[in-house]
Amino acid sequence: MSVLDDNIAKLNRYLARYREDGIPNRIAGQDVAGAGGTFQSISPVDESVICDVARGTAEDIDAAANAAHDAFAPWRDMPATERRKILIKIAEGIEARAEEIALCECWDTGQAYKFMSKAALRGAENFRYFAEQVVQARDGQHLKSPTLMNITTRVPIGPVGVITPWNTPFMLSTWKIAPALAAGCTVVHKPAEASPVTARLLVEIAEAAGLPLGVLNTVNGFGEEAGRALCEHPRIKAIAFVGESRTGSLITKQGADTLKRNHLELGGKNPVIVFDDADLERALDAVIFMIYSINGERCTSSSRLLVQETIREEFEERLIDRVNAIRVGHPLDPTTEVGPLISEEHFAKVTGYFDVAKQDGATIAAGGTTLGDAGYFVHPTLFTGATNHMRIAQEEIFGPVLTSIPFQTEDEALQIANDIPYGLTGYVWTNDLTRALRFTDKLEAGMIWVNSENVRHLPTPFGGVKASGIGRDGGDWSFEFYMEQKHIGFATGQHKITKLGASA
Ligand code: NAD
Repeated sequence: MSVLDDNIAKLNRYLARYREDGIPNRIAGQDVAGAGGTFQSISPVDESVICDVARGTAEDIDAAANAAHDAFAPWRDMPATERRKILIKIAEGIEARAEEIALCECWDTGQAYKFMSKAALRGAENFRYFAEQVVQARDGQHLKSPTLMNITTRVPIGPVGVITPWNTPFMLSTWKIAPALAAGCTVVHKPAEASPVTARLLVEIAEAAGLPLGVLNTVNGFGEEAGRALCEHPRIKAIAFVGESRTGSLITKQGADTLKRNHLELGGKNPVIVFDDADLERALDAVIFMIYSINGERCTSSSRLLVQETIREEFEERLIDRVNAIRVGHPLDPTTEVGPLISEEHFAKVTGYFDVAKQDGATIAAGGTTLGDAGYFVHPTLFTGATNHMRIAQEEIFGPVLTSIPFQTEDEALQIANDIPYGLTGYVWTNDLTRALRFTDKLEAGMIWVNSENVRHLPTPFGGVKASGIGRDGGDWSFEFYMEQKHIGFATGQHKITKLGASA
């Protein structure tokens, strides 16, 4: 039996229960049918129905928000060391079921097993990392003044909503849920409608690890229905959101009446700038990895290649050879590098840019075609001869599609890199240290890597500027979002209190 056949057999065993029973919502530790009935989850690999999924409405969100409200005080007040133990057990539970998570995620999203096997384990790492921060998360400062001993402490904000997208959904949801739980918040999670399976696994693992019922609740459904109701619910104190920039704007509007705190991680159209003094071998590897891994459905992907004119021709030629050699195929085949796109709608969006590129006068130097009779497969694509004002250079395509734009000078590279509404990441390839310092200082992005692909280090801040987001994840920045600062002043003596109404 080939590894692919073996993986398919395992997947079928894992999916059997969903095919039988569907995926209900999980509220206060109970399986609950969606008030809006069900919708079908479709696999992008062969367009088959995976299972029925509860369609949550405002009614389900209300029940989940109330459950999160009721569970909040006991969870907040549980000794931090106890909460830490539970979070570590969740990490162990994820590790124990990593294969199941990875296989289900591949089938649900079309992502290649090559990358998803690691994404499941990174979910566990997120829980371990934040488990270790649980105790000090509450710590504050001592700010002595002449008459007072002032102290600060941090307290969890309350029940929070977590709304996640369909690209690497398991890993991304742990990124939000782990620090929220570590801070002492309770959570209502609304996973993306296009990829609901692994959110179910997460809540199961969490409850099996001893997470008190109601601390993590999962309500499936559509954004404008369940998602909107979550943003509007008065018992939900904050929304941690990952998704498109225009949805981020809706999240802000929907939360206005209840004064929500929002953390928005949004889209990107990130530049990778390759100067002619760079290590071109490594730059080539990184350019390819950062746009074609994870199907290019990656917010941090380097989707705009800015390449210096002096090396452009040679660099693009080598790029074309490599892009044409990328293995597109069944996501459960461990040798597959690019799988199918998430959905028919997204497939139509991505392939629509093939025509846009031609209309704009760019060249399709590789790919630009689809493959297979079923499923949403596209060939990895490279557009060359682009200018920065073209739609293929300005809009987030969110697929395995790279737009190459030439530049002559450092100033021009900077101008092109910044001339975009987004500002999530930037990648700079040069061996000139002072240029790297100068350039990164001026580059408008929340995260920049020099001579490196994106290598996530959990204590560092993750987030974007401009239309790419508001707020940061990672390290203590996560706690700043899920917690409130509280100041308490203790009088240290009998300082003079100004008396009013005491002159008679
Ligand atoms: P999306 O915005 O369409 O959906 C994301 C989530 O929001 C889904 O759960 C959806 O149901 C929900 N939603 C939609 N409308 C809503 C509404 N009105 N109210 C509340 N919730 C609503 O995004 P997507 O297509 O699922 O994901 C791809 C996008 O996510 C890309 O733009 C990508 O760049 C971005 N992304 C950003 C980061 C980051 O860290 N900056 C990470 C991953 C993905």
